[in-house]
Amino acid sequence: MSPRRWHVTRTVLTAANGTTGAGLLLALATRTKIRRGRDGVLIAEGWKLPMPPASCFTVGSVIITRRSAEWLLAEERAALLAHESRHAGQYAVLGPLFWPAYWVACGWSYVATGSFGVRNYFERRAGLRDGGYPEDLPLRPWVERVFRRR
Ligand SMILES: [Zn+2]
Repeated sequence: MSPRRWHVTRTVLTAANGTTGAGLLLALATRTKIRRGRDGVLIAEGWKLPMPPASCFTVGSVIITRRSAEWLLAEERAALLAHESRHAGQYAVLGPLFWPAYWVACGWSYVATGSFGVRNYFERRAGLRDGGYPEDLPLRPWVERVFRRR
């Protein structure tokens, strides 16, 4: 599929499966400002709640950021925007199942390494470096032992 067609497909699927609607509701409820992004993603700027601690997170085709849309659309942030846009693609495929699947992946990554991202399937697929995660961390010693025993 060409990149352009994939962007349109992603936008249509996240609209149809309700995840973009959830992102827009969250943006409205928290009074962030919704702006046009790039390649069919929307940017909700000015997130003020303390959680999650990241500078950006994505719900459907809505990237929610503590900063401004200009900040995220700047050339220096192209990798971060691409990372968040890949999460929008994951929502396109999984729909609302993304949430439980993502939290299980976060839990596993945290248990194994102490980082929510490093061993998280979805963060790895979206690009660890692009998302600002370390590219690898050692497994915790007890996890290492459990796997060595097998
Ligand atoms: Zn991410």
